Amino acid sequence: MKRNVQERADEILKMDIDENYEKIEQAYRELLESSEPESFQILLVLLSSGDVIHTQKAADVLALKRDPKYLPEIRRIREKLPERKGLRDYRWTVDRAIEILENVRRGSKCRCALYKFQSGFSERFNPSVEQSEGFVSIVREVVHRDKYFTEYFCRCNMCARRWRVIDEIGYHYPLYAWEEITDRREYDAYFENSD
Ligand SMILES: [Zn+2]
Repeated sequence: MKRNVQERADEILKMDIDENYEKIEQAYRELLESSEPESFQILLVLLSSGDVIHTQKAADVLALKRDPKYLPEIRRIREKLPERKGLRDYRWTVDRAIEILENVRRGSKCRCALYKFQSGFSERFNPSVEQSEGFVSIVREVVHRDKYFTEYFCRCNMCARRWRVIDEIGYHYPLYAWEEITDRREYDAYFENSD
């Protein structure tokens, strides 16, 4: 069994990203959908590869699989990941996965505690990705062309908390600031008829 884990991880690592993009996507989709313990073992091997693409893909899939059992091992792997040149440290994706799994371990069904935890702009949570993964619904989008940013009004699909997210795209990679809307009037103005 151990051997199969290593073999499958090696197979995925050997795929060239330009030639086999679809195959790589498919491999990670299968790992996400599988409930076999091997799927976690394969992802941990991919995570520890230190390959900028595969480490991040494995981290994202481990976060989506929502099993906090593997947190100690993910933390150990994170500590040993080498630094790589790049505009953005690829290891941040692993930190994000650790944060998400910690939140699951605390029993949270949604990610509101994590959105709240972001102070100011961060690359951690893209509202469109949060929506595509089923965590929030973007109720309204307001594009401010003159000021080069977009406001996203989001509702948590689990606990119904409301959020205003502002993006900052003038940077090398997009950043997002999450702010909870607790003012009743503001809340009504943006979210009326949205249920
Ligand atoms: Zn929530």
